[in-house]
Amino acid sequence: MRSRSDVVVVGGGIIGSSIAYRLACEGMSVSVIERDSIGNHASGYALGLLNPTNETGNIETLNHLSFKMHKEMLDTIQQESGVDAQVLSVPHLELALEESEIPELKAEVDRINGFDQFKSRWLEPSEIHALEPRITPDNLGGTLVEDVIMLDSYNLTLATAQAAESRGVEVVLGEATGIIYDGDRAVGVNIGGGRIDCDAVVLALGPWSGTASLWTDTNIPIVPQKGEIVRVEGLNPPLGIHIHGNPIGSSCSVIQKGDGATWLAATVQDGSGFDVTPSIEALEALSLRGMRMVPELETHKLVLHTACMRPVTPDGDPILGKIPGKERAFIATGTGGKGILMGPVIGRAIADLIIDGETELPIEEFGLDRF
Ligand SMILES: Cc1cc2nc3c(=O)[nH]c(=O)nc-3n(C[C@H](O)[C@H](O)[C@H](O)COP(=O)(O)OP(=O)(O)OC[C@H]3O[C@@H](n4cnc5c(N)ncnc54)[C@H](O)[C@@H]3O)c2cc1C
Repeated sequence: MRSRSDVVVVGGGIIGSSIAYRLACEGMSVSVIERDSIGNHASGYALGLLNPTNETGNIETLNHLSFKMHKEMLDTIQQESGVDAQVLSVPHLELALEESEIPELKAEVDRINGFDQFKSRWLEPSEIHALEPRITPDNLGGTLVEDVIMLDSYNLTLATAQAAESRGVEVVLGEATGIIYDGDRAVGVNIGGGRIDCDAVVLALGPWSGTASLWTDTNIPIVPQKGEIVRVEGLNPPLGIHIHGNPIGSSCSVIQKGDGATWLAATVQDGSGFDVTPSIEALEALSLRGMRMVPELETHKLVLHTACMRPVTPDGDPILGKIPGKERAFIATGTGGKGILMGPVIGRAIADLIIDGETELPIEEFGLDRF
């Protein structure tokens, strides 16, 4: 373990890895401290959908910028790391299963066509049948979005971390236990019985970010939100489309991924703390939702059932930027269900703040001081 780096990043999920990669591209020396292994939590078990069109609000601009950055960076990161992120460019179909959903979904077409990177159109049930006959005939049409990205989130996180390592980043396996200050200025991180000195510290602890409240004399309001995913045997020929809808009143994605399995994602459960035990209730719910959209899945055997935690804030937006009252201490978390998408833009924004003291990226409204 090095005794000193320009920057110490705590957390080796997609957010910490993306920040480390961007800093390394800018010539900084970086240590990433990870207590389990790279991508061992949500960053390794997420669905892996990159689709900035399905969320409006404050975060929309950052999501679109990040999608563009992913497209620019994916080849480079895979080449530099030698890791295949199993990137698929697929259409996204937002399926109408109830009459009441039709007006809102039709209105989405114009909104999405307003973005340069995407084309969208409304499909009638007969067009959906022609596109993919295995989608339930009991549908009322849907909004098609061309060319969203589906990838393996574990492989992407590993690729990002390994590309960072190829540029000199050191990944240190261990648990960070606190920040060392000179006055209010962060000058190092405690790890086990040792320390790494640095000029800047970045906290990217995902759902465990609240732990760092004690390290920063400030409340970091992050809680874990449990999400489960079920993988079943793939369809033959493979389903080449990401289908999303609200069957039985709850959100569900069906997609056949690069690993060959069909993924049914995901549950959203607040208040279960750090429990990541897969539940029979989630297995049943996701199976029913998936079968409502693609009935043929009824005969498909279970391959894997996973659970992990989204880091969420009280207002649903991320926390990005400087830690109030401290110098050279930064935080990036609270990405909820969009952290895989947001990795590149967060990496760039935090690296800008560390190197230049400011960023042109629109992150002002996502500061910790808003709480
Ligand atoms: C079911 C599900 C599906 C999802 N699907 C998508 C999707 O399709 N697209 C998308 O964009 N996003 C998706 N997400 C969201 C995405 O997975 C998260 O937003 C993202 O992974 C959060 O990344 P992170 O690096 O902040 O956190 P994490 O991945 O949790 O990483 C934090 C890391 O910090 C480490 N750590 C914590 N404390 C310490 C310490 N004291 N010392 C050292 N290390 C420490 C942990 O071990 C961990 O590895 C999904 C999430 C879930 C739960």
